[in-house]
Amino acid sequence: MTTTQDRSTDEANATDEPSDPSSSATNPVGHSQPGFELPDGEEPAATCERCARPFPTTMHHDLHLGEVHAEALTGRERERYEDALEAETDELFVYHLKVIAALAGMYAVLVLVYMVVLSL
Ligand SMILES: [Zn+2]
Repeated sequence: MTTTQDRSTDEANATDEPSDPSSSATNPVGHSQPGFELPDGEEPAATCERCARPFPTTMHHDLHLGEVHAEALTGRERERYEDALEAETDELFVYHLKVIAALAGMYAVLVLVYMVVLSL
């Protein structure tokens, strides 16, 4: 008897579930937006005013504005997007230099080991 009552209350709770998104929609920061959950106790550095998506840095926020909301940017937002894009390009260039240096180092070590093995 109690199990059927439990089931009926579970079903009642299940039908109440659709009312929950309305409560999460009132979340001012948008932490519960699907696909963009933050770890507990972590606050975003910036949040998009247009789609409520949180970002770990303001640079990521500026890049998001230029790539997703490009049609509605103000002059200041476009300027920040171009600065962030340039900073990202510089970081990517340095990353590529590090990858090339790592590959060259591994190749040099491999050649040295091969030469040592052949001389034995
Ligand atoms: Zn957005």
